[in-house]
Amino acid sequence: MDAPVQKVKLGKAAQTELSILREIQAAPYTSRVELARQSGLSTSAITGIVGSLIAKGVVVEGAGMPGVGIGRKRIGLTLHPSLGYVVGVDLGTFNLRITVSDLNGISISKRELPTQIWRGRDEVLRTTFALIHETVAEAGIDKSKLLGIGIAFSGVINVQEGMVISYPRPGQVESWRRFPLREICEQEFGIPCLLEDSVRAIATEERTVGGGRNYSDFVYVDVGFGIGSAIFIGGKIYRGCNGSAGEFGHMTVAENGPLCCCGNHGCLEAMASGATLIDIVKMAITKGVTSRVLELAGSMDGITLEVIAEAARDNDSLACRALSEVAQHIGTACADVVNLLNPEAILFGGALFRAAPELVLDHIKRMVRHRAMEKSANDVQLQIAQTKGDAGAHGIAKLVAERVIDRALTNRM
Ligand SMILES: [Zn+2]
Repeated sequence: MDAPVQKVKLGKAAQTELSILREIQAAPYTSRVELARQSGLSTSAITGIVGSLIAKGVVVEGAGMPGVGIGRKRIGLTLHPSLGYVVGVDLGTFNLRITVSDLNGISISKRELPTQIWRGRDEVLRTTFALIHETVAEAGIDKSKLLGIGIAFSGVINVQEGMVISYPRPGQVESWRRFPLREICEQEFGIPCLLEDSVRAIATEERTVGGGRNYSDFVYVDVGFGIGSAIFIGGKIYRGCNGSAGEFGHMTVAENGPLCCCGNHGCLEAMASGATLIDIVKMAITKGVTSRVLELAGSMDGITLEVIAEAARDNDSLACRALSEVAQHIGTACADVVNLLNPEAILFGGALFRAAPELVLDHIKRMVRHRAMEKSANDVQLQIAQTKGDAGAHGIAKLVAERVIDRALTNRM
């Protein structure tokens, strides 16, 4: 590749080129006809723009869709596969996942390790940076073409400042408070870094390759250790005036409810997160409630969402009751979201929905039908997300790749 991304020149039609590049980036192996349909431009206009992008070495065609080797070959347009690369890092509470991807979002190498967050911030970052270096080396790419790194983080962050505001995990609160993670990452690797909320990263992957492909106005809800969401309006993430929109987990569902890590009482997260569900079950067992959960788990420490789901499938009454309780809280909050935003769909992902999709979704559907205004409730699709546990790393890589294209075309590097 002899036309590095930095040399792309601004032209009169730069904005149009940008939007066409974005279309190609969002749907690799697309065709001119599809681009014309998506953009509303004429086929001849698209042919001209694509010709110009190919001449600049930014776009290639004929790479062929992977797996489509028999019969008529589909001629696809993609960003040049060696135009540049990005690193996507999902620094989760339980798992650290890293991908090195091209600007189409196609992964070249990836690695995964348990985060072991209790080792403390400095040790976790040492492991993370070492694993990034290893994953980049494994990809065998020219390091000068590494154009950005994204870190998806599950704490409370300020995207504009690239700062971790807080990380409400046992034993971790003090060391992560107002921690400039983006700056530290940029110092380590010498390239631009994006710090983003992990749920937005997962939701970006869901929008591009999961159930979100079918919708432009939808909400992605993630229930794992905590509860978060990402709101898509017109196909774009809605961030709010300072980037903190989507705090679904901190909607008040019980005015005098338990204290939440954010300082408020009765937040959804304090009533219905994966961590809360486990606490509810543990507390009942401690109080002497008989349940198969303990037998399946082996010990109190072995109680997981998967074990609770297994017990519920065996009709264990404590497991069924606890799952129903958290699902009803989530459903109540979803009814408010449906009333407020009138979305086409709410997609549910995260550890709770991976462990017990059918056990939770039915309760949520019932609550939304029961509580939301009929007009909005009738038309909203409530579905389990399609992406898997590695969605955060791939999603953040795609967000970084979008920024790289944006910077290159507007000469804001
Ligand atoms: Zn809260």
